[in-house]
Amino acid sequence: MSQLQSPRGTRDILPDQQGLWQHVYKVGAQVADQFGFAPIKTPHYEYASLFQRSIGAGTDVIDKELFLLKHRQEEGEENQYALRPEGTAGIVRAFIEHGLHLKPQPYKVYSFVTNFRYDRPQKGRYREHTQFDLELFGDTSPFADAWIILAGWQFLTSVGLPAQELELQLNSLGTSAERSAYIEKLKEFLQEHQTELSPDSQVRLTSNPLRILDSKDQKDQQLLDNAPILTDAFGQTSKEHFEAVQSYLQTWDIPYNLNPRLVRGLDYYCHTAFEFTTKGAGGQQSALGGGGRYDGLITALGGPDVGGTGLGIGIDRVVEELERLNQYPVMDAPFRIAVISNPATRTEALKTLKQLIEHGYAVTFSEKEGFGSQLKQADRQGTTLAILIGEEELAQNTVTIKNLANAEQSTIQKSDLLAHLKQARQL
Ligand code: AMP
Repeated sequence: MSQLQSPRGTRDILPDQQGLWQHVYKVGAQVADQFGFAPIKTPHYEYASLFQRSIGAGTDVIDKELFLLKHRQEEGEENQYALRPEGTAGIVRAFIEHGLHLKPQPYKVYSFVTNFRYDRPQKGRYREHTQFDLELFGDTSPFADAWIILAGWQFLTSVGLPAQELELQLNSLGTSAERSAYIEKLKEFLQEHQTELSPDSQVRLTSNPLRILDSKDQKDQQLLDNAPILTDAFGQTSKEHFEAVQSYLQTWDIPYNLNPRLVRGLDYYCHTAFEFTTKGAGGQQSALGGGGRYDGLITALGGPDVGGTGLGIGIDRVVEELERLNQYPVMDAPFRIAVISNPATRTEALKTLKQLIEHGYAVTFSEKEGFGSQLKQADRQGTTLAILIGEEELAQNTVTIKNLANAEQSTIQKSDLLAHLKQARQL
């Protein structure tokens, strides 16, 4: 480390870059509330075994990218900790641990989760990133899937991403049995073309053939054009579930593309899988987030047999997309009040300051010499009104109020101050 700097793949978001972030957090919380999701907070780290059991070996996130924490000797190997790479596992763990299936169902929660992945950093891909995470438990209906998608759509459009920039990729993974049968067919097809596959896909042919479907390699993609399609192998229940999800989306005018290559590598994912993408810089597709149904996960982790469906949207990418499209929200300037005084009136000013804080006002105060320099500082801090308390005001039990935008000022009785401010704030 030659200079003091943040660790590779991490960033500082400084106060003057916070506008969009705070806006996105605010909209996320509002949308979650609209859709009936309550906030939840789970730890930034869990036992590593939770992630190994839920996300599973054979995935990059676990095999290559997990941030393992060095545990103390006395805690033993089984107590190895890991920083969370995603939000679902911890929330599912909390759902099981606290018996939340006994609460009224569906049980809906949201969180802004900071995730850690020991990845190769590049633009839009960091070692620490944040996701807006929604999880819905105890409802296996297609409506629950559509509800999650609608919430994701509402979030992305409400933060200011134009609907025409967004794409929703949709697929269904059917049931585990349907998928197993399909994987055999897919393997048969790919084995005939094994030598034409990219090296990565050749490895996956034995480790996780389904994931070959989302290979980014062009030649693989061409080959896959003629591959069998998972949804063609569905039985009645899976077909109906998928059609019902689509019918809700059509009713709500949410455009989507059926994408038979959108898959998840793990067994407990079933039925609906989706991803929100944007046209991105240079017309390149970029994933903003996605999700789907994971009915088998809760039982796989030792919980009750209730279903789950959820989504995770990457906030870092959403903010970058808003910046790229120049979509800055119009922010109301805060109504901030400065209290200006001199040493002789300071005690009275400090009392007034405390009174304003108690009444919920944003304030600023300085002990600089002279009204002029205090006013200058107040102005730099985006102050709306200044309350001036000089010796005369103190003697007369009055205060002078100065509007910093137009320099108008008036002197009023101190007892009228709060009523006056209340009115001024509403203007
Ligand atoms: P995933 O949990 O991998 O399905 O990712 C969901 C979303 O989180 C992605 O579409 C990205 O927007 C975001 N995301 C995932 N990994 C990263 C990362 N390393 N850096 C920044 N954003 C990420």
